[in-house]
Amino acid sequence: MFLARRCVCSGTFSKFRLTDNLVRCLENVGITKPTEIQEKSIPLILDRKHTVINAETGSGKTLCYLLPFVEHLRNQTLHPYRSLVLVPNQELAHQVVSVFDSLSDSHDYKACAVSGSNSLTLHSNVAAIVSTPASLANYSWPVILKHVRYTVLDEADLLLSGSAQKLTWKILDYLTRNDPKQFVFCGATLPAKGKMATQSLIERWLKRNNLLDNSSFVASRGAHRLVRGLDVEFVPVSSTESKFENLLAFIREERSKIIVFTNTVATCIDLYSMLVDRLTQRKLGRLDKTVSSEMRSKTLREFARGKLDVLVCTDLASRGFDIPNVETVIQYDFPENSTAFLHRAGRTARAERKGKVISFVLSNETALADLVESACLNGNDASTFERIFSRKRALRKRLGVKQGAAK
Ligand code: AMP
Repeated sequence: MFLARRCVCSGTFSKFRLTDNLVRCLENVGITKPTEIQEKSIPLILDRKHTVINAETGSGKTLCYLLPFVEHLRNQTLHPYRSLVLVPNQELAHQVVSVFDSLSDSHDYKACAVSGSNSLTLHSNVAAIVSTPASLANYSWPVILKHVRYTVLDEADLLLSGSAQKLTWKILDYLTRNDPKQFVFCGATLPAKGKMATQSLIERWLKRNNLLDNSSFVASRGAHRLVRGLDVEFVPVSSTESKFENLLAFIREERSKIIVFTNTVATCIDLYSMLVDRLTQRKLGRLDKTVSSEMRSKTLREFARGKLDVLVCTDLASRGFDIPNVETVIQYDFPENSTAFLHRAGRTARAERKGKVISFVLSNETALADLVESACLNGNDASTFERIFSRKRALRKRLGVKQGAAK
């Protein structure tokens, strides 16, 4: 009986022995062949290994961790349990919920995005809780995390560093108590070299909790590299004024969807209003932390549907967003480090498509730009990018850039 439920169709996802309905759900959205990182990680996760997944942007990491869990839900020979997916922002939480919904052909179970404002009722059919660490902190953990047996950190490097780290480690530690659990960590930038590198931190945490023996670390060949199919252009500019004129010229000649990245909220707001004044024929949106969460969701929805064609944003929009048909990313402000460069660039050329990244470079930004450019030119060598990761602190110092400018 058990085997009869398994897919024996020709789709290559069948090699994971997923239930046939699940394979059909994938086929319905045009997904028939696993990506490299899906091939490497899904069998490990199905095999209940704690798994650390490092793969380039747009390589299908969401399905790496959702498919094994949904398979578990469909496999009714096991007692169902809940999963917790931690993400760095609310918009990403909604995106993960919609991927989960696309894998569901019934209303037997659903995913629920936790928001700071709504009260959360965990009906018995809520199988996946998707939340930022901060939103989760508004609720009583013993209640909310009671049946969680499968935990995922998406964009793990961001969650385990910066403002979210203390809370994230606390949640992880809480989840190691009592029943057996499975943990999956994933990201496009998970450096491994150095004591404080994300993969080293995860390894030490797994070891401390006696989970290391049942753990696997997997990476795609393209990890820490710009994706293939990306056209990268560096444009030297002499002043902020010439940056703006260059930007106008690029946007005017480009017909496809464009994302424009700035380094601070103030620049984002100013630039947006200057562009609205000058580009009356284009439909523009703005995304930064001062935009309300309802408005952010609306803007992303309209951008995804093509009702907006230019999105001006901060790095708030640099992580994880999967927006169809973004052909051009423009870095109005050069990013502060190579991590931000990779994530911003990763908003285009997703799932093996083509895309273009244009970066404006002021004279005091040439040090980092040269390193990133040479990493791109040197056959896009992953080790070169890793070196830039480890040197970013020194570089920031040399460039006189303050970290943590408001996003
Ligand atoms: P992700 O990296 O999870 O955000 O996925 C990036 C994009 O790739 C999404 O639009 C997915 O629908 C798509 N995708 C994921 N897996 C596959 C696959 N095996 N084949 C084709 N597209 C995929």
